[in-house]
Amino acid sequence: MNKEFENILSLLTEDEKNEVNLNQIDSPEKLIPLLLKRVNPNNVQHLALLIKQSVLPSICAETDDEIDQLFSKIEKEPNLLFIEKIQDKIEDFINKRFERDKRVVIERTSDISKLVLLMEEYLNEAISSNGSSSKNVINIKEKIESINIQEDGLEALTKLQNELINAASSIEKEMHTVTTKLETGKSKVQELEEKVKTLENELSRTKTENMKDHLTGLLTRKAFSEEVKRIESAYERIKTQYAVVFFDLDHFKKLNDTYGHECGDVVLSTFGKILNKSIRDHDVVGRYGGEEFVAIIHFNLNRELLQFLKRIKTIVTENSFLYKTNKIKVTFSAGVAIRSTYPTYENTLQKADMLLYQAKENGRNKIILENGMEI
Ligand code: GH3
Ligand code: MG
Ligand code: MG
Repeated sequence: MNKEFENILSLLTEDEKNEVNLNQIDSPEKLIPLLLKRVNPNNVQHLALLIKQSVLPSICAETDDEIDQLFSKIEKEPNLLFIEKIQDKIEDFINKRFERDKRVVIERTSDISKLVLLMEEYLNEAISSNGSSSKNVINIKEKIESINIQEDGLEALTKLQNELINAASSIEKEMHTVTTKLETGKSKVQELEEKVKTLENELSRTKTENMKDHLTGLLTRKAFSEEVKRIESAYERIKTQYAVVFFDLDHFKKLNDTYGHECGDVVLSTFGKILNKSIRDHDVVGRYGGEEFVAIIHFNLNRELLQFLKRIKTIVTENSFLYKTNKIKVTFSAGVAIRSTYPTYENTLQKADMLLYQAKENGRNKIILENGMEI
């Protein structure tokens, strides 16, 4: 063995030296197959790239400068891969990558858990407030409940995401239908409410129309009787003193005959207005029949009642009723009875009627009171 060949052998690794001894390699030519077994730098470069990819986090988006730096060195010098310190570092990177990815998965899973919980709450709310327990909503809820996030793991995340998106859009559709139904219902209710309102208005207008006499605008006999009930109950409670006054226009038939029925109407209407304007708020006056009127006049002192009666008499007798170019003189007779003198309202009215008859008998254009007083 020459010196040059011995130098070459001294550069071999321990394993290669063993091979040389074992196979009795004694010339450079015989050494070639053994040297060919040495690692090809091109292959090492490719391996370095694969290792780099395996240490980079796959789920976590963070990049690591340390990994980049190390592998740019390895790219230039692939043999670094065989140094123990470098291999330890790569192992560190792999562990780190594993921890990072695990953390991201846990975070995402907990986010989805929270979302599922919220959706469940929302669906429960939707089901109970809708009342109709829509089948569609219940199906979505069951689907979400059947997903076991803990067990399904990473691969099921995308599937779960799609399920949730589908569920959300179903709910959106469902809610849209419910809202449309509610809106239609609301406008129908509004329509009905308006109809009811119109009918109510019409009814109350008809009611008041029926209560008022068309010609004079005074209360009709029926409406007057209703008012009497109210006044009577107050009388029984607090003994509010009042008089019943029965009016009848004198010789009205003759007036009609002379000036015509239309003229008679004008006189009736004017007389009604005079009475209505002369009474106070809690007093009432009604048209009892043709040219007959009844009034209920409250008073504390007799003087107040007499003032009222005199005022009516003065207005009617001292003025003329106007019809076209005619100035017509009209008189009336009346009977007045005080409620407290009689056991009932009806008795009081009868007395007033009797006194009115008396006034007619005694020559008309008179008001006669129960104490015999004449106005
Ligand atoms: P007396 O003084 O006794 O009361 O005589 P009178 O003519 O007023 O009484 P009578 O009861 O004989 O006649 C009442 C008249 O009133 C008869 C009727 O034609 C008339 N009359 C009743 N209602 C109306 C009405 O709404 N319009 C008109 N124009 N006349 C009416
Ligand atoms: Mg009469
Ligand atoms: Mg009359």
